[in-house]
Amino acid sequence: MSDSGPDTLDGRELDVAIIGAGVGGLYALQRVRDQLGMNALAIDDAPALGGTWFWNKYPGCRVDTESSVYAYSFDKDLFVDWEWSERYALQPEVLAYLNAVADKHDLKRSIVFETRITEATWNEDKSRWALTTAAGDTFHARYLIEGVGLLSSSYAPEFPGRGDFRGEVLLASKWPDNPPDLAGKRVGVVGTGSTGIQIITALAETVGHLYVFQRTPQWCVPLGVGPFPDATRRRMREDPEGFRDWALNTGAVFGFVESTVSALDVSHEERQRVYEAAWQKGNGFAFMLETFSDIVVSPEANQTATDFIKGKIHSIVNDPGTAELLTPKDYYAKRPLAADGYYETFNRDNVTLVDVKSAPIERFSRAGLVTATGEYALDTLILATGFDAITGNYLRIETTGRGGLRLQDKWKEGPRARCGMTIADFPNLFMVFGPFSPFTSQPLVHEWQIDWFTTLVQEAEARGGVVDTEQSAEDAWVATCQEQMAGTLFAVTDSWINGSNIPGKPRASMAYMGGMAGYMAEMNAIAEAGYRGFRFG
Ligand SMILES: Cc1cc2nc3c(=O)[nH]c(=O)nc-3n(C[C@H](O)[C@H](O)[C@H](O)COP(=O)(O)OP(=O)(O)OC[C@H]3O[C@@H](n4cnc5c(N)ncnc54)[C@H](O)[C@@H]3O)c2cc1C
Repeated sequence: MSDSGPDTLDGRELDVAIIGAGVGGLYALQRVRDQLGMNALAIDDAPALGGTWFWNKYPGCRVDTESSVYAYSFDKDLFVDWEWSERYALQPEVLAYLNAVADKHDLKRSIVFETRITEATWNEDKSRWALTTAAGDTFHARYLIEGVGLLSSSYAPEFPGRGDFRGEVLLASKWPDNPPDLAGKRVGVVGTGSTGIQIITALAETVGHLYVFQRTPQWCVPLGVGPFPDATRRRMREDPEGFRDWALNTGAVFGFVESTVSALDVSHEERQRVYEAAWQKGNGFAFMLETFSDIVVSPEANQTATDFIKGKIHSIVNDPGTAELLTPKDYYAKRPLAADGYYETFNRDNVTLVDVKSAPIERFSRAGLVTATGEYALDTLILATGFDAITGNYLRIETTGRGGLRLQDKWKEGPRARCGMTIADFPNLFMVFGPFSPFTSQPLVHEWQIDWFTTLVQEAEARGGVVDTEQSAEDAWVATCQEQMAGTLFAVTDSWINGSNIPGKPRASMAYMGGMAGYMAEMNAIAEAGYRGFRFG
């Protein structure tokens, strides 16, 4: 347990318990403890704060949201004075920023580290949550905020024979504090999602040989790494609220305005011009959403984008066979990937692309990894195999709501929740960016959600101390989200967005696809109608 947090949790009675001390948990703590004056603690199983930015220390780890919107706005001074060095901050800089926020607001004294919450049970008679830690401590809180992370529950496939392997296996999402020196080594990377492509492009120059074990090729565009733009800094300083409101009122809160022009309403030449400009500018979300309005909803529009990227892959990658292997066959409709020089990496003599779709990984050997067609000798294998996203960490906590209802049962066929924040029959429990939240960049949206549901907590305090969402309101929210998702190509493209990256996980809609502006309008309307669809008592 941290020496800055309280000594023991056992027997504590809190107003608010917060699980997680990442971007979400930290602001939730500041908000309820300092702005609302409640007795609150945050609990995290990590030895230090930062969540994602504590755990993911792998080479090349950085945000792919513009740094300008990867920040809190509640502290205006820090919002404008923090000197982001890069357009897309590297992990150490994000972690330093979060520590600066925590230090300035003296948050660490209210965080208990190295403590995992394993159970949460609603006590109807006492109107409070009973929480149990992995060490067996029990404590209580009238309100429970779960900031457990959208991409935090790591997933790693088990290849047989791990004990035989003489080399080292590293999990990207639990990167060690003292990693081995990979310079000159034979390194394998399994996984080519957002994390994999960052590692591959970061390591290719320094390792002896890099084996990229690819099951699914990815549409990847340049990120456009560079110094933090002066023009953005000026804009933020001149009008911080205006800048924050502008960002929040875009669809994806990624620091650009989405296009309203169909890809099919312009000439081929104009499309090429727009795509080329976006390719030069960088940012995956911008390529997907700032170029044209219908890439993620129309198969024909989508194909114009994939034809363009396919052309780039084949013009960049020298070996036609490798280029073909790197070319996806599905829609451009996953969380978009962006890294500078990704496809160029495969022209290097010390990089080998291994197709493990046609010849799957079978097992470890003493020397390395064995696929259906050969053995690859490795000193280090890096697993960049993703996350049990969105629902994973909620379901790892044995959570029981009203009438003995288990969350694990309620979500058996996929999550059910309202507004991305509340779950019917789980009163006084609030999720930060839970299932059915908007499909956006996170920190500013975390803040917005936390402000919204803690204002609801204030309302609950005035109306009996308990608030629960109505089942019918939850059903309606889920139906809206399902309908929105069904109108997109995300629904039919395998990815963590719909749960299809995890064997056995039910495929489900899990996001609100109406954009942040639409989301805020719906949330504000609920609040203005006296918290329509919520029961107090
Ligand atoms: C490599 C990477 C890059 C990313 N880049 C971006 C980006 O560019 N833009 C963007 O918007 N988002 C990005 N994300 C998503 C990122 O997770 C969020 O932006 C944000 O950091 C989430 O903050 P959080 O507080 O909700 O959760 P997290 O940062 O995941 O923190 C949750 C914390 O809760 C702890 N926890 C969970 N369950 C328990 C439990 N039962 N008991 C105790 N502790 C628990 C976890 O260990 C963790 O420390 C990225 C994610 C990854 C993995």
